[in-house]
Amino acid sequence: MEYPVIIFRTVAIPENRIAIVRSQDSRLNSSSIHGFLAGLYLGLGIGGHFSGGGVGNLIRKYGLAADNVIDACIIDANGQILDSRSMGADLFWAIRGAGGACFGVKVAWKIKLVHVPPVVSVFTISKALEQAAIDVIHKWQYLGHKLSEDLLLSIVTTSGNDGTIQATFNSLFLGKADHLLNMIDDSFPEIH
Ligand SMILES: Cc1cc2nc3c(=O)[nH]c(=O)nc-3n(C[C@H](O)[C@H](O)[C@H](O)COP(=O)(O)OP(=O)(O)OC[C@H]3O[C@@H](n4cnc5c(N)ncnc54)[C@H](O)[C@@H]3O)c2cc1C
Repeated sequence: MEYPVIIFRTVAIPENRIAIVRSQDSRLNSSSIHGFLAGLYLGLGIGGHFSGGGVGNLIRKYGLAADNVIDACIIDANGQILDSRSMGADLFWAIRGAGGACFGVKVAWKIKLVHVPPVVSVFTISKALEQAAIDVIHKWQYLGHKLSEDLLLSIVTTSGNDGTIQATFNSLFLGKADHLLNMIDDSFPEIH
């Protein structure tokens, strides 16, 4: 039996906000106005990451990587090459979240790029228990979702060997620092 050979190239069509990426890619060329929602950390492969959902810094505004997959090319256990239409809605749904090692080999993905402003702002702020960390976490739970969608404000709590607890806020704001600072001062001055 002869099998067709398909050679994919990674291509971006910025005017349509679409790109086709191969599963073996781990990094796309940078752009100052288009982004994609993948990975809080560098070095993840696209194949496993998109298949598992894909959590990244743009999740607040745009969701998971898998939410922005328009189409995919997979090879199933029978050697069939399938796209979203030929694999059917159930399988196309399953390959966007069930994890890498199931439902065939994912070869390439067609993805929707999202708009990012040329300037974004980030900060990391830690609060110890004696700096009212618990009150700040409490407020964040009720406030976080009401803040602008352009602001991702996540929190990590850690405890040191000496038993001290610390709350660390990590933020990515899709905009300039002065706008971010005004927003924080107005609604969440406790973390400034
Ligand atoms: C240091 C680190 C940081 C991470 N950070 C994040 C994060 O910020 N956000 C997040 O959502 N997740 C994160 N993860 C989890 C990560 O998304 C998963 O581990 C994901 O599987 C990585 O994709 P990969 O292609 O590199 O996987 P691999 O480790 O290469 O493979 C994982 C599984 O998927 C299978 N697989 C890989 N490619 C394909 C393919 N093309 N077709 C079929 N099966 C395939 C492999 O056989 C294996 O079973 C992180 C993991 C690590 C180790």
